[in-house]
Amino acid sequence: MSLFLISLILSLPNALVLWLLNNFNYLDALTGIIIYILGLFLLIPVLYRPYRQLVAIKDFLIRINTKEVYETPKIDSLPYSILLRSGLDNASKMVRTQFEVSQKITTELNILLDKIPMPIIQINSERKVVRQNSSAIELIGEASLGRDLVIALRNPEVIREVDRVIKTKNNSQIALKLGEDIPRNYLCYIICSQNKESLSAILLVFNDITDLIKGEKMRSDFVANASHEIRTPLAVLLGCLETLSGPAKDDKEASERFLKIAADETNRMVSLLDDLLSLSEIEVNQHLVPTEETDIVLGIRRAINGLESHFTLHNKEVEINLDVSNEIPTVIADDSELQLVWRNLILNAVKYGDGKVDISVKLEKESLGGKQNITFVRVDVVDYGCGIEKIHLPRLTERFYRVDSDRSRKVGGTGLGLAIVKHVVTRHRGHLQIQSDVGKGSIFSVLLNTEISNES
Ligand code: ADP
Repeated sequence: MSLFLISLILSLPNALVLWLLNNFNYLDALTGIIIYILGLFLLIPVLYRPYRQLVAIKDFLIRINTKEVYETPKIDSLPYSILLRSGLDNASKMVRTQFEVSQKITTELNILLDKIPMPIIQINSERKVVRQNSSAIELIGEASLGRDLVIALRNPEVIREVDRVIKTKNNSQIALKLGEDIPRNYLCYIICSQNKESLSAILLVFNDITDLIKGEKMRSDFVANASHEIRTPLAVLLGCLETLSGPAKDDKEASERFLKIAADETNRMVSLLDDLLSLSEIEVNQHLVPTEETDIVLGIRRAINGLESHFTLHNKEVEINLDVSNEIPTVIADDSELQLVWRNLILNAVKYGDGKVDISVKLEKESLGGKQNITFVRVDVVDYGCGIEKIHLPRLTERFYRVDSDRSRKVGGTGLGLAIVKHVVTRHRGHLQIQSDVGKGSIFSVLLNTEISNES
């Protein structure tokens, strides 16, 4: 309402008095009008300051709720100005404190959200993006805040589920794949503030379940493979027993042959069970860092000596050369587990090589696993055999993965040797590197960190 209108209203009693005076002939009309106009124009300057101060209070009360902070206006021309001013001061202080608290909470919430490794997107009941944490930005890119979720997340199933949650106000979850080059599996939890009357916040939390799915598949594959590996020699064993008790009962030569087959298959099962037990023991200790001071070179020498009886089984001229180039310090390692590494690598080099195996042990600095210039003991086991095609290299350490199953079985392989090697090396925070040239041979290298105890 303008100042003039207020003056007009306030001068109404004045006008009434003048009109009455004129009616009872105490005043002529022109003088009455002049007095009224004079009165009106005198009222305007009188009301001007209180009016401005009222307007300032109105502006102050409107702005008090916004981000900007304003000084309490001057209100000395208004009645009860001291009381009014202290009231406004208190209100302003309260709103300012609340605003600061809410700003602090929002900042802290944003920092915390950014630190959560799961991608999280917050939307409102109109499906507009309100905020997203840095993991969500990494996953789907920066979504424009205030824009529809569908622009950032082009997944019709999730959008349909989000709409359902907005409608029903019941939490939900949906599995989806995200990522273009290497899609990963996520379980997206859609969580709404559980208020049936009003629904303002909905969170989309993405839980990466790729490794879980992979782990479950590996577990079921493992059981299937292990059962298959045990079933095969058992079937052969059963066949031998039937033949021995039936057709070959009185045939000495055939009996000897079948007994040899039965013994080989039994040995195969024993090796398989030994490997399975070693693998499960290593897995149990996977999270424990080794603590013993271990002499690597001594360990390798012991493994070579222990394998001599095995070499004769392979009917090959076996020549093993061990070359230790410089002073090798002891490392913190589990010697009995490392024995499994050296035994498996040397045996493989003999099984799949031409008989000559070169083992070299040296100390060197490498930058691996994101760390610069770490001192490693490098053990290379080199053979000059058939080699391995590049395509197989990434999968060699998977359980029961074999390049040539027949050949592996023929030489008594269980398909678990390199899986054991990989597990032990991982437990020692080391690295396994495999290089191979088809027709020329392979180099299996184990790198053991000399500072494992400091690192962990
Ligand atoms: P296995 O008991 O069958 O030898 P491993 O896990 O030790 O199982 O090895 C997996 C597969 O990797 C083997 O079946 C073989 O095909 C291949 N392999 C391992 N070492 C060598 C090697 N030195 N040269 C060629 N192939 C190898």
